[in-house]
Amino acid sequence: MIIDTHCHIYYSEMDNAEEIIRQAAENDICIILNGTDPSSNREVLELSAKYENVYAALGYFYSFADEITDEDISLLDSQLTNDKVIAVGEIGIDYYHTKDNADKQKELFEKMIGLAQKHDLPVIVHSRKAIQDTFDILKKHDVVGSLHCYQGSGEMAREFIKLGFYIGIGGPVTHKNNKKIRKMLKKIDINHILVETDSPYLTPEEKRGEKNTSLNLKYIIRKIAEELDIEEDKVIEITTDNAKRLFNI
Ligand SMILES: [Zn+2]
Repeated sequence: MIIDTHCHIYYSEMDNAEEIIRQAAENDICIILNGTDPSSNREVLELSAKYENVYAALGYFYSFADEITDEDISLLDSQLTNDKVIAVGEIGIDYYHTKDNADKQKELFEKMIGLAQKHDLPVIVHSRKAIQDTFDILKKHDVVGSLHCYQGSGEMAREFIKLGFYIGIGGPVTHKNNKKIRKMLKKIDINHILVETDSPYLTPEEKRGEKNTSLNLKYIIRKIAEELDIEEDKVIEITTDNAKRLFNI
């Protein structure tokens, strides 16, 4: 079994979401769908109830920071009790688009971490141009999880691992010009690596120009095996064990 630990394969992102989920099941791939707002969280819950190979991560994303209400928080609080929910995500901070609402983004992120603690769940974290703030916040709280599509340095990755975090590796590891991520990969312990696609985004080099799907995990696994000079089967075995351990699957 392989676990795609982070993706968005639901109708508001992909017209053929259910077809992809079925194809993934045929290929022994489990999928952790990540919601980002009330409507995508609802889609994630529906699909995880319908398909055995789909698990749910629910959360409110940084882009929702300005409009969040108390009702939204209590809705999420009640949804997190669902049996198929294995994490709070996708959550985090992103200063790439704007830093104007940094305080609100951080406040929302901390609220999400609070819910994860309340429900004893790990978090799936997005961080873009905000790695230090992300680290400072996670360090303050007793919480574990994954840094999805991590693009920082190897040194920083090791600091996150010390906090109990796992490093999500996706399509960018295959991108020709992304030497930085391959260098980082060699500096971290494979026992703290997860594989993910972030479908429909971040398509691997081999499928450039197409929408990404969980079926493309094989290219990511192949690249990790090549870079670390180990068998692909070994990469699958270890990263699947890592995901099962973190998400209690
Ligand atoms: Zn995502």
